[in-house]
Amino acid sequence: MNVFIGCTAEYGDGEIVLFGAPFDGTASYRPGARFACSAARGASDSIETYSPYVDMDLTDAGVAVHDAGDLELPFGNAGRALRIIDEFTMKILRAGKLPFMVGGEHLVTYGAVCAAARIYPDLSIVQFDAHADLRDEYLGEKLSHATVMRRCWETTGDGRIFQFAVRSGERDEFEFADRHIFIDRFGFNRLTEALASPALSEKPVYLTIDLDALDPSECPGTGTPEAGGVRFSELLGAARAVIEKCNIVGLDVTELCPPVDHAGISVSLACKLVRELLLCAALKQR
Ligand code: MN
Ligand code: MN
Repeated sequence: MNVFIGCTAEYGDGEIVLFGAPFDGTASYRPGARFACSAARGASDSIETYSPYVDMDLTDAGVAVHDAGDLELPFGNAGRALRIIDEFTMKILRAGKLPFMVGGEHLVTYGAVCAAARIYPDLSIVQFDAHADLRDEYLGEKLSHATVMRRCWETTGDGRIFQFAVRSGERDEFEFADRHIFIDRFGFNRLTEALASPALSEKPVYLTIDLDALDPSECPGTGTPEAGGVRFSELLGAARAVIEKCNIVGLDVTELCPPVDHAGISVSLACKLVRELLLCAALKQR
């Protein structure tokens, strides 16, 4: 099978399980995120397995990543797609392994969070995203990439979601965020403060990265690009800080949209980000 570069461990040996969730059934602007995981796998051959940032290699002994391939998801049925993601994530968690999901649109996160929250009822979530994703419904639908964090909030409760780099949403979403969750508008200015709070320092944490948190100049190939984003180096530094400081029980990278990634910049960026996150998570598990 074609796997993400360096992720050649057998399932039984894998401490981290990478898998794709190719679903974009509720994409509101530019669909195509269903192709993200297979595109990333293909493009991963163009990056190195070695990271000069952390002096580690995906092929080092002690870095055991299994690539489980892509889930088979029904494109037109969000509820059933989420149940399949939930069940697969649950299987990984029950085996004592770390799930690492590549979307797909951002709604896929809800499936993985449902599984993680059943095993860890005191789960907290860290989200990097241009959008708050806190609408109660979108076009009459409760399940949408525009409502995903609202559904997650219904699962975790108040004070458990920490958003960064958010710069787009309805006024109601920002007011909801100020009342119920932690929101850092535009960047990572309050990351240190957030990491010091008991909800992150003492609880199991799920990290979800919507790639549109990045500035579209660096990552144009997303479903809903939003100007005024953070730099790759900032996002990577913030993600590393979260993984190093928190008890990470699952993570994902979502919203890469290969059909609008005309120069292939965004898929290369996503591959590099996935490599760095895998190595950082593997280092933590040693
Ligand atoms: Mn999102
Ligand atoms: Mn977004």
